[in-house]
Amino acid sequence: MKAVVTGAAGFIGSHLCEKLLSKGFEVVGVDCFTEYYSKDIKKSNLKELNKNKNFGFVQGNLNKIDLKSILSDADYVFHLAAQAGVRSSWGRDFNIYTDNNILAVANLLESLKSSKKLKKLVFASSSSVYGDTTDLPVKETTPTKPVSPYGVTKLAGENLLFSYGANYKLPYVALRFFTVFGPRQRPDMGFNIFITKMLSGKTLPVFSSGKSTRDFTYVADIVDGCLLAAKSNVTGEIINIGGGHRINLLDVIRMLEKITGIKAKLELFKAQNGDVAHTWSDISKAKKLLGYKPKITLEYGLEKEVEWLKKGEK
Ligand code: NAD
Repeated sequence: MKAVVTGAAGFIGSHLCEKLLSKGFEVVGVDCFTEYYSKDIKKSNLKELNKNKNFGFVQGNLNKIDLKSILSDADYVFHLAAQAGVRSSWGRDFNIYTDNNILAVANLLESLKSSKKLKKLVFASSSSVYGDTTDLPVKETTPTKPVSPYGVTKLAGENLLFSYGANYKLPYVALRFFTVFGPRQRPDMGFNIFITKMLSGKTLPVFSSGKSTRDFTYVADIVDGCLLAAKSNVTGEIINIGGGHRINLLDVIRMLEKITGIKAKLELFKAQNGDVAHTWSDISKAKKLLGYKPKITLEYGLEKEVEWLKKGEK
């Protein structure tokens, strides 16, 4: 079985490739090492993968390479490549988001629409499509009202999938990930920033005065959700993949203090544009359709992320 993973050098993509290889897949990863964060980090994410003879890597931008030849014999495609990050999606950089999160999806779908081999396209969408909802825990039927340009582009990606599904019977599942954490977490993400600053004795910037809550999902659980979606008979569905519980940021920091033995110094800020007050996934659809069940607790997952950052494997 051949699987293609776009965004393979990224945080989640690199974990997904490793899992697929461990399950006996032949995996082709595609990534162009965008400038969003250090290329060295992305290259290091590929270190283990490059040792595996069943892993092939194509360095290239989805909007520029010959996707058809890469995808023509793929049984499964996992589309994770994107410009991530809510706060940087305002202003001049929005074209980076439209290129990587909308145009790239359209190009991928064009190259897949007549594939005879494709069993499933799994798309990494985001809880950001819900916006600042108060309908918590949020179900897939809750109206989508993204409050960031990033969220708008992820929703556009979902809608493109729907169009190609409707017109070409392209088999897909869109998974709405809720804040993902664990080893290799992107350097712009909250836990990575908190832990790095704590370990070096620096002050932690805490937005929304720490009162906002998030549903955090360990990366191995996200990867499980992707595999379950690929292997299931489900198609044309949008499904939340979250941890299924929520916690406020001050409580996370207390947990990190316990794990590291370091007292955190905090600087409180108000919420930034695009930030939502709360996220909390209702994962009953994922449980029912995919048999998804998150296994890793927040405390255990944070220990793993702290261990990884202490080793400085970047
Ligand atoms: P990441 O930035 O670490 O990985 C994305 C990878 O895609 C990067 O390595 C980048 O170089 C690559 N890429 C971007 N545009 C490309 C293009 N046009 N051609 C080729 N490669 C390209 O991000 P991540 O945190 O691993 O997120 C993976 C996916 O999950 C993204 O689609 C993101 O929107 C989604 N998601 C992530 C989270 C989270 O908490 N990390 C939450 C919700 C959704």
